[in-house]
Amino acid sequence: MSVIWDERLITRQRAADMCGTWQLAVDHPYLRCADCTGNILKLPAEGKIVDIDGLISATVRHMCMNHGYSLSGAQDG
Ligand SMILES: [Zn+2]
Repeated sequence: MSVIWDERLITRQRAADMCGTWQLAVDHPYLRCADCTGNILKLPAEGKIVDIDGLISATVRHMCMNHGYSLSGAQDG
């Protein structure tokens, strides 16, 4: 899983800041949002590699689509 960031929409730093304290719940094989239990990501099989970029990207996407956050930060909260 490799993420291509479009820095015109959101920088990697802002994405990391945005979701750094967001809580996730492991519900194998899914990683769910601890707030609404929505799916963030389907976890790969045991022993496979995941990259943090993919987790950040999926979490930010979920926050925007399900919790009203904006990539620009205009309506956070
Ligand atoms: Zn959620």
